[in-house]
Amino acid sequence: MTPSSNVDPAEIAKFNEIASRWWDPSGEFKPLHQLNPCRLAFISDQVQGLFGKKVVDVGCGGGILAESMAKAGADVTGIDMADEALTVAKLHALESAVSVQYQQSTAEAFASANKNSFDLVTCMEMLEHVPEPASVVQACADLAKPGATLVFSTLNKTWKAYLMAIVGAEQLLKLVPKGTHEFEKFIRPSDLMRFIDDAGLQVVDATGLHYNPVNQSFRTGPGLDVNYFVVAKKPL
Ligand code: SAH
Repeated sequence: MTPSSNVDPAEIAKFNEIASRWWDPSGEFKPLHQLNPCRLAFISDQVQGLFGKKVVDVGCGGGILAESMAKAGADVTGIDMADEALTVAKLHALESAVSVQYQQSTAEAFASANKNSFDLVTCMEMLEHVPEPASVVQACADLAKPGATLVFSTLNKTWKAYLMAIVGAEQLLKLVPKGTHEFEKFIRPSDLMRFIDDAGLQVVDATGLHYNPVNQSFRTGPGLDVNYFVVAKKPL
């Protein structure tokens, strides 16, 4: 697969269409806002603090995670293919007086120009939107410096993830637009770990993400059956 072909234009159009609402805490991206404190803490722990780390956020969207990592003192680059999401991300960073470099690129194209460059590579809730997730994982591996940490998150291919992410969030609660997720693209942890392994990385942790509807927040913990993180290291 050539670098530019690992993009589903329908997916990018979907994210461009709702781009203006990235930073609306009660809009379509509410789940990502609710998730952010939990994942920021988790990611920060993986690298013993974000301060001074050179980070690339692959599939950064409107910059919810990218900006929060920059606020914690990281030198962050965010890449995405949805240009309207990036416009919103850039404006929001200006408003918040946070410095983040945003660039429209695929993971593969960015990796071919920036090999072995980052202390931390994050790729959150993005792999389930691309035709060939293994190719994105390989690009993330290429972007990482030897010894760097990589954190991936995605949705598992289980009936419970189907119920929560599609039936619950899209159809019942109408929290996110219909068609946001396609069940066929959800990724089993065993498959993600195989992609990671094939990219020459070592899996160091896998943790579930759990939603608590009472306080509307997420926490990490055992159980990978819906949303989960896999953490990897690039060998020295
Ligand atoms: N990582 C962000 C956004 C997740 S939404 C967060 O968790 O807050 C998924 C993002 O992946 C969207 O912004 C979408 O435009 C982007 N995306 C989908 N396919 C892509 C591709 N092939 N290359 C780069 N970005 C892509």
